[in-house]
Amino acid sequence: MSLFRSAFFFKSVASLADAPASVGEIAFVGRSNTGKSSAINALTGSQLAFVSKTPGRTRLINYYALGAERFIVDLPGYGYARVPDATRAPWEKLLGGYLRMRAPLRGLAVVMDVRHALTELDQRMLGWFYPTGKPVHVLLTKADKVSREAAHKILRRVEAELAALAPHASVQLFSSPKRSGLEQAAAVFRAWLDASAPGSPGAGPGREPNENPRQDRGWRNKSPRAKRGNQPGAKCLKV
Ligand code: GDP
Repeated sequence: MSLFRSAFFFKSVASLADAPASVGEIAFVGRSNTGKSSAINALTGSQLAFVSKTPGRTRLINYYALGAERFIVDLPGYGYARVPDATRAPWEKLLGGYLRMRAPLRGLAVVMDVRHALTELDQRMLGWFYPTGKPVHVLLTKADKVSREAAHKILRRVEAELAALAPHASVQLFSSPKRSGLEQAAAVFRAWLDASAPGSPGAGPGREPNENPRQDRGWRNKSPRAKRGNQPGAKCLKV
């Protein structure tokens, strides 16, 4: 945990060209209001991620440094229902460009509210990120809002769906106020970052994005699996 406890705000960037030199970073993404900021704050033991909520920063990529050119990266939340297209396009381009092109990105933490897990938009994000070959860890937040039994039932369902949708993805329950799931999440993210430490087997420039043009779809375009209907929470995805 101490690695994450040392985190401090580094910079906000509006373009990939401004991203800092990095040997490894893990990015957090999720629909707005799912608890992404709270999860980053719980992990780092600070109020760090509320930086990303300050006006003007909500559509930027926010970098939190962990030292030795390693970072937690807070990506703009997706799923804003009332954002006009003209406003939405630039940050979608930024988000999409980052996820597909950023070589030091070691893995993606996808934050979902346990009560609305794997929405259609989440599925598109996962399907779209899959060709990068990079690992994904899903945090099912707000686990304290449902009974233990219900939470585990949802966990098993999401595990089963992920096995088909994104076989390299793992998933866990998480609660920021209860601080439950913290150690488990920290261990996953730490392993990703350790794999990028200089001299380690995972070190290197990172895998280049998949250049297959057939897979070069915007992440908001439907992935084959995301076309499945009746997904839980799909109704709130009219964006
Ligand atoms: P973000 O928009 O995804 O960054 O979401 P926030 O971290 O700002 O959280 C949105 C709301 O959900 C806030 O009121 C948080 O206090 C609350 N919240 C976040 N995580 C949890 C959690 O694990 N349990 C509960 N009960 N509330 C949470």
